[in-house]
Amino acid sequence: MNFDLTDEQTAIRDLCRDFAREEVAPQAEELDRKAEFPYDLVAKMAGLGLLGLPFPEQYGGAGADTVSYALAVMELARADASVAITLAAHVSLGASPFYLFGTEAQKETYLVPLARGEKLWGFGLTEPNAGSDAGGAQTKAELRDGRWIINGTKAFITNSGTDLTGGTTITAVTGTDAKGRSEISNLIVPQDTPGFTRSKKYNKMGWKASDTRELSFADAAVPEANLLGTRGNGLKQFLTILDGGRISVAALSIGLAWGAYDQAFAYARTRRQFGQPIARFQAIQFKLADMLMEIEHGKLMILKAAWEKDAGRDFAMSASLAKLYSGEVSRRVVNEAVQIHGGYGFMDEYPVSRMYRDQKINEIGEGTNEVQRLVIARLMGLNA
Ligand SMILES: Cc1cc2nc3c(=O)[nH]c(=O)nc-3n(C[C@H](O)[C@H](O)[C@H](O)COP(=O)(O)OP(=O)(O)OC[C@H]3O[C@@H](n4cnc5c(N)ncnc54)[C@H](O)[C@@H]3O)c2cc1C
Repeated sequence: MNFDLTDEQTAIRDLCRDFAREEVAPQAEELDRKAEFPYDLVAKMAGLGLLGLPFPEQYGGAGADTVSYALAVMELARADASVAITLAAHVSLGASPFYLFGTEAQKETYLVPLARGEKLWGFGLTEPNAGSDAGGAQTKAELRDGRWIINGTKAFITNSGTDLTGGTTITAVTGTDAKGRSEISNLIVPQDTPGFTRSKKYNKMGWKASDTRELSFADAAVPEANLLGTRGNGLKQFLTILDGGRISVAALSIGLAWGAYDQAFAYARTRRQFGQPIARFQAIQFKLADMLMEIEHGKLMILKAAWEKDAGRDFAMSASLAKLYSGEVSRRVVNEAVQIHGGYGFMDEYPVSRMYRDQKINEIGEGTNEVQRLVIARLMGLNA
């Protein structure tokens, strides 16, 4: 077994590490405080080829593998989770459905500008009354005179309303199957579709600089050709998309934990109490040792899932395990990082305060901890 990264993986990691340290970290506090979308950082990430990192060059991407992509997300999240989720949602949820299920024409029209970073794209699965039970979607699309007429609401959709957003791909009920169950399909809805509106940005606990909105469809009409993939395969398609997305959310979680560890490590060496740096106290040393152990464990799980995906193997179990574990690690590590900062950790000038708020969504988005356990139990064959 070889744990060395390739030269290309190392180069991408280092590029993202430098970019995150030099460009992202200095802006993180202000972007969070103002809940301001990071347009200039998105433009710079586009310039570095990060918005199309794992897609082939023929579609405007950088042709990197999933391991490199996971490393990139980790490095960005170490500096700012809002910037990292903007990239991760764009790649894993916005662009990859076109790559996985699009026709050549759809790849040309949609994937190329997304991979080049000229536009952002959302993926709308969740609804006000269909979250974990995403198959219970109520948004409907009816085929009339060669157009899909869409009615319904989507909730919590990332990257759906920025000035750069080109549209959102949504799941909608397009009929009923032979057994009377909802037939779900994916539809491409460009931003300028009449009847398609976005709410104002939600006020969130964390990920404040990222863009999250509710979407409404009132007789929104798109051409029949805006069906993405096979009609009725929407459920299967979004489960595939979420498998890949779990690797990036796991990377977000471990990146965040790692960033909090960096802060706590540096603080413990400079903060003095009882005449010495607090890093000399065994209680603090043990916390930092445990934090590092869990981060390392999470990193290995993520890289294994990414490696399996790159090798064309079934990675669903590894991705779910990595996502669940990494989300819980981010909670424990960020909590201890605040503890090591004492009262200062409760102050917004210290990055760990923002990280504490940014952490919680890691245990909710892309399948809650409870849902991950359900997925893992199913993959274990416990329901058979
Ligand atoms: C900031 C943010 C960004 C997001 N971005 C996107 C996006 O881009 N696209 C998108 O489609 N969605 C997005 N989401 C939605 C996210 O994926 C959902 O919030 C998540 O899947 C949970 O759904 P819910 O919020 O409806 O919670 P619910 O499903 O209502 O869950 C509530 C609680 O019940 C538990 N629960 C539910 N079912 C079960 C069960 N069977 N067994 C045990 N416990 C259960 C859950 O684990 C949870 O604890 C985003 C959410 C947020 C907050």
